[in-house]
Amino acid sequence: MPAQFEDVRLECLVGDIARQPDIDAVVNAANAALQPGAGVAGAIHRAAGPGLEQECRPLAPIRPGQAVITGAHNLPNRFVIHCLGPVYGVDRPEAELLASCYREALRLARRHGVRSIAFPALSTGVFGYPFEAAARVAIATVSAEAAPPLALVRFVLFRPADRDVYARLLGDLPRG
Ligand code: ADP
Repeated sequence: MPAQFEDVRLECLVGDIARQPDIDAVVNAANAALQPGAGVAGAIHRAAGPGLEQECRPLAPIRPGQAVITGAHNLPNRFVIHCLGPVYGVDRPEAELLASCYREALRLARRHGVRSIAFPALSTGVFGYPFEAAARVAIATVSAEAAPPLALVRFVLFRPADRDVYARLLGDLPRG
C-alpha cells in the first residue's frame, strides 16, 4: 500500500533488507560496534562481505540515535546507512532516540544525493521495541522529514503481520 507524501512515495513490503537491488541506500539496524550480529546486521554484513566490517571499524562506536554512512561493498546498493536504535527499556527516551535514527539516516541520504532508501523496523528485534509503537515513530518521522531529491522510502519487513501493521498506518496518512 503506497502513500504519496509530498513528492516522496512511502511503501512497505515483506522482504530481506539485504536483497533490495533497486534501492540506492539500505539502512542497517546496527550495534554500537558496527559489527556483524544477528538479524538485520547479520544479513547485511554477510551479503556485503568483510570489506564492510573493515570500513565500519574506524567509525565505531556509535551512540543510540546516531547514524553513519558507508559504501555497500558486495551489496547491490550504493550505500549502507548504519543506525543504532534504542534498546527498549534501557536507552531513554526511546521514542526520541528512535526518531533520531530515521531523521539522521534521511539527513545522510540527502547529503549523498540518495533517491531511494530502504529501512528495516529498527529496534524491533533483539532491542525489544514493541512493533506497532516503533512503526508509528518510523512513519511519523519519515513523513515529516522525507523530501526530494529522495523519491522513494521503502519499509522492508520480515513478517507478513509486520507488513500489515505498516500498511494500515501508511493507509491512515493524509495524502500529499
Ligand atoms: P534491533 O537490534 O535494532 O532490534 P534486529 O536486526 O534484531 O534489530 O531486528 C529488527 C527488525 O528487523 C525485526 O523486526 C526483525 O524481524 C527484522 N529483520 C530481521 N532480519 C531481517 C532482514 N534480513 N531483512 C529485514 N528485516 C529483518
